[in-house]
Amino acid sequence: MSISTNLNNIKSTLPKHVTLVAVSKTKPVSDLMEAYNAGQRIFGENKIQEMAEKHELMPKDIEWHMIGHVQRNKVKYMTAFVRLIHGVDNYKLLDEINKQAKKHDRIIDCLLQIKIASEDSKFGMSAKEASEIIQSKEFSELKNVNITGVMGMATFTNDKKQVEQEFKLLKSTFNNLKTIQAKNCNIETISMGMSGDYQLAINCGSTMVRVGSSIFGSRNYN
Ligand SMILES: *Cc1c(COP(=O)(O)O)cnc(C)c1O
Repeated sequence: MSISTNLNNIKSTLPKHVTLVAVSKTKPVSDLMEAYNAGQRIFGENKIQEMAEKHELMPKDIEWHMIGHVQRNKVKYMTAFVRLIHGVDNYKLLDEINKQAKKHDRIIDCLLQIKIASEDSKFGMSAKEASEIIQSKEFSELKNVNITGVMGMATFTNDKKQVEQEFKLLKSTFNNLKTIQAKNCNIETISMGMSGDYQLAINCGSTMVRVGSSIFGSRNYN
């Protein structure tokens, strides 16, 4: 099926309060343009350089989301244009994003990545670390970042019960963080759910799903 058909099919199943991030990593600009021409304006990439290249080539009303692991020394390549950084998993990274955002006179929205999977391979901080950061004095001094929610990735497994438990853990973390008052923290987004599990994620409270292969087809990493 075509990219626009896939996109429209998925959009028709999403409740109004759920935002769709079209995950376009590894895909050529022509594929992204097909989604763009079908109305999609939010794209997610997991490599900063690839996202910057696509940003250069594509219409400027696109919201670019960085959904992958972020290395501190590469933050500067996206600060001029990135709309939301999903994978913030430590304070030092937040501090660097703040520094770079300041140079561009921007306030950059970030999600804290919470480790909900049992696998060692997944990045993220604990719910406790997240709440400590948000309540810290040093964080309150970061004027150029705004934490708007949390992001998580479930374990790669066919065990739906386990995935559901992990999504519920992210939802309860979200509920707890929401009660914390801080100027540069406005918790409203739960980024969870991918092609294989976004419906389950929505049932567990997701407000933002990151869908790649169900829109663009499977990826070829060669
Ligand atoms: C690749 C990726 C996705 C999309 O995965 P699909 O299974 O292709 O939908 C979502 N989130 C993150 C963080 C990713 O790296």
